[in-house]
Amino acid sequence: MELCITSCYRFTPLKLENLPILSQRLEDFAAHSGLRGLCLLGTEGINLTVSGATSVIAEFKGLLGEVLELNDLQFKDSTASKQPFLIFKVKVKDEIVTLGRPDLAPTSPVNSHLSPAEWHQAVQDPEAVVIDTRNDYEVDIGKFKTAIDFRTKEFREFPEAVRNSGIAKDKKVLMYCTGGIRCEKAILAMQEQGYKNVFQLDGGILNYLKDFPRAEFEGECFVFDYRVSVDQDLAPTQKYLLCPHCGQPANIKIECGQCTTAATICPSCYKDGTLTCSKNCAHHMSIGSASAKPHSQELAKRRKKSSSPA
Ligand SMILES: [Zn+2]
Ligand SMILES: [Zn+2]
Repeated sequence: MELCITSCYRFTPLKLENLPILSQRLEDFAAHSGLRGLCLLGTEGINLTVSGATSVIAEFKGLLGEVLELNDLQFKDSTASKQPFLIFKVKVKDEIVTLGRPDLAPTSPVNSHLSPAEWHQAVQDPEAVVIDTRNDYEVDIGKFKTAIDFRTKEFREFPEAVRNSGIAKDKKVLMYCTGGIRCEKAILAMQEQGYKNVFQLDGGILNYLKDFPRAEFEGECFVFDYRVSVDQDLAPTQKYLLCPHCGQPANIKIECGQCTTAATICPSCYKDGTLTCSKNCAHHMSIGSASAKPHSQELAKRRKKSSSPA
């Protein structure tokens, strides 16, 4: 069965005392409809990706508008044949995307947004600095051709990275992320630092690829569910699996050094020398080498002792 996956976020002030009620309404809907996915809910708004039958997703969109009392929510849809989520969950958080700055929430839903068509033109301007606000392992499997990134491991490192970047305050800056939500906060962080000419891609890579596949964005777009990433047609990847050790996109085929099973691991675990099929095998292999080590260290020590003058 073909499943619909939809992502949506909205910064909108929600009363703390109302969050349990909102949360319950979404959970009730999921319980009878089979909707799965993750909803982050906070006093600054909502951020979610959910999956279900096409009719369920359509109904859910209506419900969400009703619950939030908003009729202009923006959804980004894609499809998959396999469930990308195991369960449905609502989490109440201080921030619906974690920058470590709950005080930095957009007050307007449109802070210098560029539509995919406007962005498509803008990124071809050699004078503009294109910033990928995502983490290093996301950038590594796909990015806009001319983009730079700060090799961040998590989003909360972004403001400091910009501070250290040396990018001139008057430079035209174009920023993007997966679905747009990170840039809503990243742009505020940059504006706070005095950047005046910053723009963000409306709806992120997912929105761009819908209109411009195989254009200025190269590679695949990492997503935070079992699909790992989506390709240029927004279809689940055929190229990557989840690394059994760290959960990053994996495409290096190995034979497990412990049990000889064929496995696929990510480039960074490969570089670290983690050549095993699972955490379990990695553990057993490390016990093996740890018990060998003291032995050789002991031998070396003895040798050193006997050769050093008493
Ligand atoms: Zn890995
Ligand atoms: Zn193994």
